[in-house]
Parts: sequence; C-alpha cells; structure tokens
Amino acid sequence: MIRKVVIIGSGPSALTAAIYAGRANLNPLVFTGFLSGGIEGGQLMTTTDVENYPGFADGIQGPELVAQMRKQAKRFGSDFISEDVIKIQTDQQPFTIKSSKSEIKSFSIIIATGANAKRLNIPGTGDSEFWQKGVTACAICDGASPIFRNKPLLVVGGGDSACEEAIFLTKFASKVYIVHRREEFRASKIMQDRVRRHPNIELILNHTLDRVEGKEFVNKVYVKNIVSGKITQIDVNGVFFAIGHTPNTSFIDSGIELDDDGYIKVHPNSTTTSVNGVFAAGDVVDKKYRQAVTAAGYGCMAALDVEKWLAQKDAIHEQRVESKQS
Ligand code: NAP
Repeated sequence: MIRKVVIIGSGPSALTAAIYAGRANLNPLVFTGFLSGGIEGGQLMTTTDVENYPGFADGIQGPELVAQMRKQAKRFGSDFISEDVIKIQTDQQPFTIKSSKSEIKSFSIIIATGANAKRLNIPGTGDSEFWQKGVTACAICDGASPIFRNKPLLVVGGGDSACEEAIFLTKFASKVYIVHRREEFRASKIMQDRVRRHPNIELILNHTLDRVEGKEFVNKVYVKNIVSGKITQIDVNGVFFAIGHTPNTSFIDSGIELDDDGYIKVHPNSTTTSVNGVFAAGDVVDKKYRQAVTAAGYGCMAALDVEKWLAQKDAIHEQRVESKQS
C-alpha cells in the first residue's frame, strides 16, 4: 500500500497536520518515535501548565494537550506508529520512509520533528534533580508559574532568546540575572541595549553556571568566573536555559535543504521544501516563535499544502491518462 501522506513527529505541529489531513480523507500515517533525543509528544511533554494555548481559559497540562490532539487526530482516521524514522529516501516517487522496523512508501511527507532546547549538563539540573522544579528551558512557557512569582531568577545565555526571556521574566520576577560565558553578547544590539538598560536585570558576564542547589525547588546557584575561576553563590528560585535549540533533522541526509543551523528551509509563506512533495512544519523550520500554537498553525498549513499538492498531482495524472487514451 502506498500512503498519500506520512507525517513524522508527535508534537502540536505533527498532530495538527494529522487532524487536517485526516479530515481531508488522506488517512495519514504518523511516525511518533523518539527522534534525535527528542521525546514522543515533543517539548510540551516536559511542560507542566500551558496557560497560553487558546481555548483553555484555566490552562492545561502539556501532556494532556498532546493527548487530546492525538485523540482528535485518531478520530479523523490517522494511524500511528511509535517508531523512530531513521532514513527517508526522496529521490524517487513514491518516497520511502524507513524506521528500525518498518519501510513505508508515501507520495508525500510532512516533517514536523521539532527542535530540542539545549540544556546544560551540570549538577542539579538533571531530570531527577531540579529539572522542572525551578530549572527549565522555556521562560515563555514556564515563567508565569507561581513558583517564580516575585522571586529572583536567572537566565543562562547571551543570544536574542536569553535577552528576550530575561525581559519577559521581569514581569514576574523580583530581579533577573543573566549569566553569559563571554564579555560580548551574541544578541542583536537592540536586545542588548534593552537588557543593559533594564533596572531589574543584572548581567553576570564572563561567568558560567557551575551548579544548582535547592530543597524541594531551586533556591541557589553557583557561578564561576571564567577568568579568575572564583565561584560565587547567588540566591535564585529559577534557572532558565536560553542557550539555543537543536532541530531534529539528523535523519535527513540528502536532498532536503537545511540552513546552517540544521533547520529545514521552506519557501516563504509556505511549508514546501526544496524537494517536491516534502513539506516541513513547526519548530524544525521555525527558530523565531517556537510556540505550541505557532507550531500547530504550521501543521495546519502543511496539511493544506499537501492536500493541494496531491490534488494537483492527481489532476496531472488524469490528464496524462486521458491524452494517452485519445
Ligand atoms: P543563539 O543565538 O545560538 O545564542 C545562544 C547563546 O547561548 C549564545 O550566547 C551562546 O554563547 C550561549 N551558549 C550556547 N551554548 C552554551 C553553553 N554550553 N554554555 C553557556 N552558554 C552557551 O540562540 P538563540 O538566542 O536561541 O537564538 C537563535 C536564533 O533565533 C537567532 O538567530 C536569534 O537571532 C533568533 N531569535 C530572534 C528573536 C527575535 O528576533 N525577537 C528572539 C529569539 C531568537 P556564545 O555567544 O558564547 O556562543
């Protein structure tokens, strides 16, 4: 059997694409496996309260939101395979999608494998330590949590995300520290100026985060001066990593064009990639917005693009059959 569309991914983008493709009677097959260290369900699975996804006035837990989307996709005829895609071959139609156990043929593919926020592997930040107990990698998702309200917080990084997240956190925090490993910021000048001028942001430059400590939740960190090696304690109740993301594209080895950071390139205002019939959506494309709702919007766009692409393909095929017969 040749599938009309295979969707690779398991977060809001993939599942929204599945809902739309399902409702268009395309009977999508969704590969939801672990990819490049990612987790099934995407980054929402490591988020507790999602308060900014429209439609949930009282908020919703990240895993519950994913479960609801999956149920909705299933209702409209999506099939799911819980396996890693290890390779896709897109040099001839139909395409081949290979996992460790399956080999599927499909006319089109939507890649919605997301990106993972990078984390520092230092004492106190592990899953069994203070990860999600004061340590997170998404200020926009988690910053408004009661555990951070009116408390001193710390952001790690020197890029636009670190600056943006620090400014965002000043809405809730009593004070925000930015710890950056260099003297110069990577962030754009305007963002640097904003954090430098902000009365509630203190910059700790030329320092790295050494370790995180606490009781039930984080209550202090130690930072290390990279010049002198001196370690200093800072009392904070939240640590936010803003040290970049890694797109989950390691299974793509040729054909589909990626940018220098490994994100899939799509044509403007579209989800079409450099390969005809391959579409990409969500955080695997988007390094700017990275929200569950924007990823879901992208997934919708990809499914609509696929539906149109398949209809055009069928129309061309029918024309060819008719001209052969006449
Ligand atoms: P980024 O520009 O790659 O910055 C990552 C920062 O984390 C850098 O300052 C880097 O330090 C630091 N870092 C990386 N690994 C580290 C480690 N192991 N230990 C300590 N620090 C580490 O990532 P980003 O800020 O997420 O931005 C990604 C892209 O999105 C950029 O193109 C950015 O302009 C864009 N963006 C735009 C906006 C906006 O326009 N509003 C907002 C957010 C992001 P070094 O500088 O020393 O390498």
